[in-house]
This record gives sequence, structure tokens and C-alpha cells, in this order.
Amino acid sequence: MAELEGPEFGKADFVLLDEVTMEQFLENLRLRFSQGRIYTYIGEVVVAVNPYRALALYGPPVVERYRGRELYERPPHLFALADAAYKAMKRRAKDTCIVISGESGAGKTEASKYIMQYIAAITNPTQRAEVERVKNVLLKSNCVLEAFGNAKTNRNDNSSRFGKYMDINFDFKGDPTGGHIHNYLLEKSRVLQQQPGERNFHAFYQLLLGAPPELLATLHLCPDPAAYRYTQEGTRGSACGDDAGGYRAVEEAMGVIGFSPEEMGSVRRILATILHLAAVVEDTAVVEDTAQLSALAELTATAPDNLRQALLSRTVAAGGGELIEKGHSPKEAAYARDACAKAVYERLFCWIVGRINASIAARGYDARLHGKSTVIGVLDIYGFEIFDTNSFEQFCINYCNEKLQQLFIELILRQEQAEYQREGIAWQNIEYFSNEPIVELVEQPHRGILALLDEACLAVGTVTDPLFLASMDTRLRHHPHYTSRKLCPTDKTMEFDRDFRIKHYAGDVTYSVEGFLDKNKDTLFQDFKRLFYNSADPVLRAMWPDGEQSITEVTKRPLTTGTLFKNSIVALVENLASKEPYYVRCIKPNDQKSPTLFDEERCRHQVSYLGLLENVRVRRAGFAYRQPYDRFLQRYKMTCEYTWPNHLMATDREATQALLEQHGFQDDVAYGHTKVFIRTPRTLFSLEQERAQL
Ligand code: ATP
Ligand code: MG
Repeated sequence: MAELEGPEFGKADFVLLDEVTMEQFLENLRLRFSQGRIYTYIGEVVVAVNPYRALALYGPPVVERYRGRELYERPPHLFALADAAYKAMKRRAKDTCIVISGESGAGKTEASKYIMQYIAAITNPTQRAEVERVKNVLLKSNCVLEAFGNAKTNRNDNSSRFGKYMDINFDFKGDPTGGHIHNYLLEKSRVLQQQPGERNFHAFYQLLLGAPPELLATLHLCPDPAAYRYTQEGTRGSACGDDAGGYRAVEEAMGVIGFSPEEMGSVRRILATILHLAAVVEDTAVVEDTAQLSALAELTATAPDNLRQALLSRTVAAGGGELIEKGHSPKEAAYARDACAKAVYERLFCWIVGRINASIAARGYDARLHGKSTVIGVLDIYGFEIFDTNSFEQFCINYCNEKLQQLFIELILRQEQAEYQREGIAWQNIEYFSNEPIVELVEQPHRGILALLDEACLAVGTVTDPLFLASMDTRLRHHPHYTSRKLCPTDKTMEFDRDFRIKHYAGDVTYSVEGFLDKNKDTLFQDFKRLFYNSADPVLRAMWPDGEQSITEVTKRPLTTGTLFKNSIVALVENLASKEPYYVRCIKPNDQKSPTLFDEERCRHQVSYLGLLENVRVRRAGFAYRQPYDRFLQRYKMTCEYTWPNHLMATDREATQALLEQHGFQDDVAYGHTKVFIRTPRTLFSLEQERAQL
């Protein structure tokens, strides 16, 4: 057990704290962080603090130390958790998932990559070519997804602006044979505009600064992000990373994944299209620059006349099935153009995800021949966001976090309780905060905020954001988690006719309703869809299947952004709930990206809203470890004369009992129907030590 940590590193599991208080929790976290021990357990949950420096924690020798080991045999690590999920999947044929949460910059995406790296390192010992290919695609997909879905924000230079859930499929040998990525709510408004100091998605800068000059010329681009309105803001701050290097890495990764040169050409032309779009309609004045227009027509492989028409007007159905063309005002044209740029980027992103999925779809897997295929899912999704101004995006993201927190509470507590009942062990009830009312406030049919928002979007006549707020004020005034300036006139931190506030489990968040209706409706005129559907570029065309309909056929309103998001999150939660969950809770130690600063207030807040203290209490109220009798004996029988080499008792349970009594641990254990339950990890550490000393 030389591998275990000494007491100078604090407690490797928060369950071992003398007292479960915030002070002790933070002190332990701080102590470990200061010594580069960034991982700590709460039972089987890994708490990870972002080190903001490269630690020698992830190389092949470390992988070997964790491979096939139990959680408590080595210092806390993501690899131990990944191994536990992998073992559950392989030995017990359980579908498992690893849920990574934490706020922006806490280290979720890095953690998800280390976990995938570990799984890739420990599988496919026989080097099967197809498995090797799938593993490569899975690893390379991160690079491509980050180029198109990540951006520099004020919180994180490489912030994921979308949620990602990745399933990895395994065959009966435990080797990865395929995978599938689900993406959630890309922050597409970033295409048009960024906060001061922030950037657009990396892909734009990579193209402009990384592509060879001849290539840029064919795209009618110059190598200067400041020349394009959508990328201008991003050039004001300090340079960010190596965009040119990023370009080459992405090209290489796309090649490995299997994007054809033609497809990669289309992707570049679509990026160029978006950059050019900003210039064809300048704010409120329509610029009919024919050179721009013909460049755009060339890039999108559409007819210049159709393109001009789509930019400057829209088709509406008049009575009697007649179609008339209605010219845009300059303002409408600018609005339509922006909607178009956002939609093109979003569809490009979804197409890329779909293309990666096609390349790693678990193919030719016959369950009758190969046994059941099992899955490990990895969820890397945006954490709670509280900004100075919070809009529709934060509202959706925070709703998603409420759902995941609810799942966390339910799974950790209810599973625990259910297992005790199954095993016939007494369970003491634990009080915990249930956030069900907040989830209901958002998602309840007919009455929740999302339903009221949809209602406002569907209403005929002009409904404005403030009117939507008024309707919430009327219908939700008695809800304990909802308030607004009108309902609480003395609260000057909210604005009349603009703000409402939700008491989230993680704290109060004030949202501005500005843009809620627009973002929820997310209108894009059919003219654009039809234009792109008729493009001669097969990739662009494939992104617009709904462009086939004519105006008269488009009668059904598409689902709103809010409803689509809700549906996808409900499906995600259902999917996670059907799997055996493992959790990584990431903590950001400070806002300065400093490897030495432990900002106690910032950490306290995160520990509190991640519910980590409750989590420790639940673990301590019960038994930290449990194992089936036979497996327990297998591991420890050599530590006791009655059980070595084989016990002669009637049952494994009696043998386990004899072993534990001989060591004097009888007060720290309980005997269930099929498993032995051990209250504190200390007992297990001692057993491990005994075993190691033999
Ligand atoms: P967001 O929600 O904005 O996507 P995130 O939680 O995914 O944030 P990451 O992008 O994973 O955050 O981490 C932010 C930065 O912190 C990384 O770019 C890296 O510099 C640093 N970092 C995170 N984890 C580690 C680690 N284990 N070792 C070294 N550096 C790390
Ligand atoms: Mg991320």
C-alpha cells in the first residue's frame, strides 16, 4: 500500500473528516490543492480542483497504476473512477455513465478527455484494426468539436459553448466498437456578437490565420479577423492560443475521422459564407455590393438572383394560395441576415456532429453473435451560470443544471436507500433539499415558464418581452421560487418591465426577459432554407432538408427553442437514470487562472451549490463500501487463518463475519443478504494494508 497517501495530504475521502462542516471541507480541499492533490473522493464521487498547471498525473505509468484496481487501492484519481465505470460495464454488463459537472473553467472538458484517454489506453490489447480506428475517431472528435463549439470567454480561454454527451459502445471483450455524440444547445448568438474580451468560435480564427493564402483567396478572404464584423471583437483582446496550429490540427483530425476533401472544402466555404454575410447587409442599410453578392453566391453554390432575393425580401402566402414577394425594410433585412448566419453555423455544427457519428456508428454488431453491447456515457455539459446580465441562454442552462442536480440527489439517495432495503439493512432517513419545485416552475405543462413563453410566442398580434413578463407575474406570483420587480417593488436590483428572478438551488439568478421571445421563436425565413436546399453544394444542401417545402406547405409551426431544449434534457435525464452513474464534481479554485490561489469564497460557493456537504452526510450516514461476500473473501481471505486458503464454514457470509471479527472490525460493519457493508473507509484501508504486508 505504498501507493496510498500519507496524512500530510489531508483526507483522501471527505467521508473521513472529523466533522462534516464547511470549514473542514474547505480546509481539506485547500490543503490537498496546495500539494497538487487535486482529486478527492466522497465515496465514489470524485471532487476535482482545476490545478491550472500541467501535472504529471496522466502518463502511461499512471494508467498502469490504476488499471484494474479498486477505488481505494490508489490515491484518488479520475482514472480510478473511469476504471470503476469500465469494470461495472465489463464484469457486470452494466451500462454506466460519467456525469461531469462544475462551472465554466472548472475543468470538465479536460476531465472528460482524460477519462476517454484512459479508456482508450486500457482497451484493445489485441490491436484490432476496427477498434483502433473507432478509438482514434473518438479521441480526434474532441479536437474538431472544440474548434467549432468552443470559444474564448472571460471565464475560460477554451470554453465549451455547447453541451456534450458521448456514448461509447463496447463489445463482449470490453473493447470500444462505436460511439455516438449528442450535442445540446449551441450558443449560436456568439456567431454575431461577443462580450468585450471574448471571441467568436475558434474555427473562424483558425481558418483566417491558418489557411494558406491561395486557399483564402479562393474563399475571397483576407487573413485578418479584424476585417470581418463577426470576428472583430475577438481581435481586441490578447491573442488566444495558436490558431494557425489549431487549423492544421483540425484538418488532420477531420482526415482521421473520415471527412472527405470535398466535405472539408464545403465546411471552409460555409465558414467563409458566414464571414461574408455580415458585410452584405450593413446594419440598417442594404448594401448591394455585387462583388460581395457574387462571392457569396459562389461560396454557397446558389444562383445570385435567388440569393439577392432571399436577402432582401421574403415570400408570403396571400389568399388563394397566391405567393407574393414582400421587400424587407433595411432593419428587417439585417435581422434576417443575422438569423441566417446563426442558423447556417448551427446547422454546420450539427452536421459535423452527425458526420462524426456516422464514422463511429456501432456497425455490424450482432447481439446474438457477440452478446449484449454495453455503453459508457460521458456527459460534459455547461455548469450553472450567473452573469451580470442573464438571458435566455442562461435560463436554459440553469434549468438543465436543476434537472441534473435533481437526478444527482435522486440517484445518490434513492439508490442508496433502495440497496439497504434490498439487503435488509436499517436505513435512517436523511433530510435533503429537493429542487423539484424549481424544476416544476420551469417545465410544468401549461403553467411553467417555458409553457408561458411558448404561449406568448404563439399569440397573434404583437406580444413583446415585457408583456410576457407581465403574464408570468400574473400567473406565477404565488410561486415561492419566482419573483420580479413588480412583485417586489422595493428590490432595486431588478428593473421594472425587464427582470424576473428565480431562486435556484445554487442561488438567486436575475434574468432579463429581453430577447426571450425572439430567441425562443428563432425564426428563419423559408426563403433561406429553400435557397440552401437548392444549392449545388451537396454538403450545404444536406443541412437544409426542410428547405424542400414550399411556403404554402409550411403550415405547422416548428417547435420552439425552449421546448426543443426541454425535450432533449428530459430525454438526457431519462437516459442517464437508466445507467449506473459515476460523478465528477469540478471546482474552479479562483478566477485568475492561478495555480496557487485558493479563493476560499469562490470555493465555498461551489461546494455549497454542488451539494457536496449533503453528499458527505449521505455517505457517512450509511456505509462507505460494500461488496458481495464472495468477492470480499476472494480479496482478503489471506489475512485470516479461518479463511485461508479456503474456509470451511457453511456460507461466505459466516466466513466474512469470522474474518472481520478476528480483525476486530465487527462494530464497523453490517451483514446484508448478499453483501458485506463497511461503514468507514478506514477499515478497508487497514484490510488493504494487511493484505499488502503478507
Ligand atoms: P466550460 O464550461 O467553459 O467549457 P470547463 O469546465 O470545460 O469549462 P476546461 O476547459 O476543462 O473547463 O478547463 C479550463 C482550463 O483549465 C483548461 O484549458 C486548462 O488550462 C485548465 N485545466 C483544467 N483541468 C486541468 C487539469 N487537470 N490539468 C491542467 N490544467 C487543467
Ligand atoms: Mg468545457
